[in-house]
Amino acid sequence: MQIAVVGGGPAGISLAYFLRGSKHEVTVYEGLSTFGVKPCAWGVLSDIDKVIDVPKESVISEIKGFRVYLDNKLLYEVEKKSKLGYIVDKPLFLKLLAEKVYVRLNAKVVTKDGKAFVNGEELKADKVIYANGHYSLPKEYTIPAIQYITDYNIDPEIVEMYFYSDLLGYGWVFPERGGAKIGIGGYADVNFLKERLKTILKGRVKGFQGARVNDYGVVEERLNGNYVGEALGTVYAVTGEGIRPSIISSKIMAKSILEGKDFRREFTSSQLYSSLKVHARVIAHAKKTNSVKGLERVLLKADPELVIKFAMGEFSKIDLLKLFGRMIF
Ligand SMILES: Cc1cc2nc3c(=O)[nH]c(=O)nc-3n(C[C@H](O)[C@H](O)[C@H](O)COP(=O)(O)OP(=O)(O)OC[C@H]3O[C@@H](n4cnc5c(N)ncnc54)[C@H](O)[C@@H]3O)c2cc1C
Repeated sequence: MQIAVVGGGPAGISLAYFLRGSKHEVTVYEGLSTFGVKPCAWGVLSDIDKVIDVPKESVISEIKGFRVYLDNKLLYEVEKKSKLGYIVDKPLFLKLLAEKVYVRLNAKVVTKDGKAFVNGEELKADKVIYANGHYSLPKEYTIPAIQYITDYNIDPEIVEMYFYSDLLGYGWVFPERGGAKIGIGGYADVNFLKERLKTILKGRVKGFQGARVNDYGVVEERLNGNYVGEALGTVYAVTGEGIRPSIISSKIMAKSILEGKDFRREFTSSQLYSSLKVHARVIAHAKKTNSVKGLERVLLKADPELVIKFAMGEFSKIDLLKLFGRMIF
């Protein structure tokens, strides 16, 4: 089968990577001239290792601890001996994976009357899979996220996450080569976010960037086997983590194709699907009640180990009850 994958981000490149060496001919079409241009803070939690090899040369640092803040006050700090995740050089990570698959750069795909065209020519494929990220999502399924690239010298093994009692969203200070990425995403307009971001900004600013990010969770109508990654909604809505879940969604897609199984059935029976759903439900509940009080309560009383499990998406119903009580059931 000839498979066309639209988008050369983590979802698209990893899908081609998981299908390499099979009987399928896979081409990834990436609209831009290089990989990993989309603004991102490059944080990935460690169980990515169960899904794909992260080349050593693309690892900027190993994360061994995190700090959680509420209204800019430190709530708790966790430091581990083992790694919790990585900061990866995402463009390099994607480039190294892309060397093992067939990618066409500068190949923007446009869909018209149900047909896909690349640079004006109709795309010839038996199956087209969209991995084009937030670009293809309705605006109301996404929130704005902005970040400064600074020279602030943060411990390269520590990430900081910020939450607020008056903002449904999250801020971050993530290490980066020669400094830190300091950003914020939330259910608010960009000017509000910029003002709030100033309160955690440190160091000399070297750059500023922004993009939208899914906070809706999985788009059920897109479970038809033609979407993976953020285009399908695979972002943890409470934390904004999208790289690892997008790659997991591609692993499930590749397995479904290779084993001739129904993607919807495989995906909806996965741990990824149920954990993404819970994250989305927490956000939907806060939007409906127009209040972040529930999340604030959780942060104030939570056991940090449970918070890690929740962020990783590896939690049981009992963990959820401990964290949220009846709030989201
Ligand atoms: C500011 C910010 C910070 C973030 N920080 C983190 C973080 O630290 N950790 C984390 O896990 N997640 C983070 N995310 C989320 C994460 O970046 C995404 O969820 C993740 O990259 C999704 O992967 P994807 O492959 O599905 O989509 P994308 O990474 O968006 O890739 C889609 C690709 O498709 C291409 N494309 C789009 N349309 C077309 C077209 N028509 N034809 C051809 N190509 C096309 C794009 O150029 C792009 O390369 C962040 C998001 C933002 C906005």
